[in-house]
Amino acid sequence: MEGYHSPQVEVKVRLNTNEAPEPPPAAFTERLVEELQRIEWHRYPDRAATELRQAIAEFHGVDPSRVFAANGSNEVLQTLCLTYGGAGRTAAVFEPTYALHSHIARITGTKVATGERAHDFTLDLAEVDRVLGDAQPEITFLCSPNNPTGLVETEDTVRAVLGRAPGLVVVDEAYGQFAPWSALTLVDDRTPLVVTRTYSKTWSMAAARLGYLIGPAWLVEQLDKVVLPYHLDVVKQVAGRLALDYRREMDTRVAALVEERGRLIARLGELPIDVWPSGANFVLIRPTTIEGDRLWHLLLDHSVLVRNCASWPRLEGCLRVTIGTPAEDDALLAALEEIVQ
Ligand code: PMP
Repeated sequence: MEGYHSPQVEVKVRLNTNEAPEPPPAAFTERLVEELQRIEWHRYPDRAATELRQAIAEFHGVDPSRVFAANGSNEVLQTLCLTYGGAGRTAAVFEPTYALHSHIARITGTKVATGERAHDFTLDLAEVDRVLGDAQPEITFLCSPNNPTGLVETEDTVRAVLGRAPGLVVVDEAYGQFAPWSALTLVDDRTPLVVTRTYSKTWSMAAARLGYLIGPAWLVEQLDKVVLPYHLDVVKQVAGRLALDYRREMDTRVAALVEERGRLIARLGELPIDVWPSGANFVLIRPTTIEGDRLWHLLLDHSVLVRNCASWPRLEGCLRVTIGTPAEDDALLAALEEIVQ
C-alpha cells in the first residue's frame, strides 16, 4: 500500500498544510516554559490527563468523562478504529475526503466502504442510504468542513446520517472553528456520535501533536482501555491546558482568518480559476486556462507552496490553498496573476 505523504519544500510562502499562519501568543510560551521548570521528569505523567481533560471539558461546557485526548486528532481517529473497527468490521467514507480516514481504517484491519459525493462535493442521501445499507458499517466518517473540499455538512445532513448509520458516526471537525455551525451540539450520552477536534489549526500548535474528541462517556471509557498507557506526555498535557486560557486571542485570530478567506476567495474569483466555497482555513481551487499540476510547479518557482491535489482521484486539476497572513496571500495572488493571465 501507499504511505501518506505531504511533501515539504523550503519556500518563502508555505500554504500547503493548513497550519495557523502565526505562532501561539508570547504569553502562552512564557507560561509554558515556567511550568516546565516544575515537571517531575522521573515520574510517568498523569495517565488520565485529568487537568487537560478538565480544561477541554470546561472549554466545551461538558463533563470531563466525555473527553478523550491523544497525540493529534489522527491518533484519536486511530484509537476509534482500533476500538470499533478491526478484522471483520467496516468503516464508511464519502470521497473525496480526508485521506487518513480510509488509510487509518485499513491500517487497523478495518474494511473500507466508499461512497461518492455528488458532483458539487455535497453528500447525496441516496448514496448514503446505498453505502450504509450495503456495508452496515461499524464506523461512518464525516468531515466538516471537509478536507480537501472545504465544504461544511449541514445540520440536516449530519442528522440524516445519524438516523441511517447502524454504528458509530465520527464527525471530524479539525477545521470546526472556521465553520458556521458544529456537530458538537448533537453530542450526548444517548447518541453514538463523536466530534473530533485538534490543536493543530486554531491553536497554532501543530508541533505539539494534540487532538481530542467529545463523545458519550460510555464510549470514552472504551477508548481509555485501548489506547497505550501514558500516551500523552507531560509537556503536551501542560501545553494543551495552558493554550485554552487564550481563547479570546484565538477567537480573534479565527475571525481574522475567516475575513481573510473571504478576501482571498473574492480575489481568486477575478482570475480564470474555479473556487469552491469554504468553511475552513483553506480553499480548493482549479485553474481553467492551465493544468493544475503545471500551476503548482510554476507557483513553486515563485516560492509559493500549496497542496497539489491535481492527480488525486475526483480532484483532477485541483490545488488546495491554506489561508495565510494577508502578506502571504498577496504573494500567492501576485504569483497567480502573473502565471494565469
Ligand atoms: N482531520 C483532518 C480533516 C485534517 O485535515 C487533519 C490535518 N491534516 C487532521 C484530522 C489531523 O490533525 P492532527 O493529527 O494534527 O490533529
